[in-house]
Amino acid sequence: MKAIRRLGAVILMLCLVLCLFGCQRDKTVTGFSVEVLDVGQSDCTLLRQGNAVWLIDAGTATERGAILGALADRAIKHIDCLLLTHPHEDHVGNARMLLENYEVGTLIVSPFSADDLTYRLVLEAAQQRGVTCHVASGGEVYSLGDAAVEILLADESAKEPNDASVILRVAYGKTAFLFTGDAELDGETALLSAVGAEKLDCDFLKAGHHGSDTSCCEALLQAVTPTHVAISCGADNDYGFPHEALLSRLDAVGATYHRTDEEGTLCYISDGEAVRFADEKT
Ligand SMILES: [Zn+2]
Ligand SMILES: [Zn+2]
Repeated sequence: MKAIRRLGAVILMLCLVLCLFGCQRDKTVTGFSVEVLDVGQSDCTLLRQGNAVWLIDAGTATERGAILGALADRAIKHIDCLLLTHPHEDHVGNARMLLENYEVGTLIVSPFSADDLTYRLVLEAAQQRGVTCHVASGGEVYSLGDAAVEILLADESAKEPNDASVILRVAYGKTAFLFTGDAELDGETALLSAVGAEKLDCDFLKAGHHGSDTSCCEALLQAVTPTHVAISCGADNDYGFPHEALLSRLDAVGATYHRTDEEGTLCYISDGEAVRFADEKT
């Protein structure tokens, strides 16, 4: 009888432990955090506020381990929104894997339609998993916890995939963050003419196209006047990113920049009043 009671107690304990783990919510984030993950010569940025989790882009396929590790380290099991700025492999390489292994709420994509196998499989995976796939359009606003994400531009008429990148602004309290994907001069010019100056003035800018000289044109930098700039590029990459000319333009507007190739994952935190670069990852 005693043995049965003891067995019952053990089973009850096991159930409680399983329930605790099963029901565990992702870690709550105080403030709004942006982590530009170290994914070599590709792009994957994690945004979090409260329990809300967004990923902008999904890195190149060979960086699968880096992305899985980053999500596991942060106990992230669900992704409210996976936003793919444009269909290049260095941005969508792990999107299918994420859709198949995580609970993804919504998939947001660029209006640029690419007839590319990797990308087709991403869209198929979303369909198979019942994940809503939404084609981005300028002016849409989404909530990311207490932060507001506004799609500033998703240019249907762009000739190149990079210039069709979904461009978004995230506002949290008095602070704002701008993400331009791989938009180059044509994309940035379209942005400048489509959006009012007040929307472009941001504290943080993720440098377009991995720090290429063809992005972050002077006019855009003067409109954004970022305090912080994050550059996602691979160590000793074949393209010579970030280009010296771009770094000079950043210096000219007084922006402080950090690079994933030199410092690894870059973390920025907003308390609603100001943005700070955090050496310590959350
Ligand atoms: Zn890219
Ligand atoms: Zn690209």
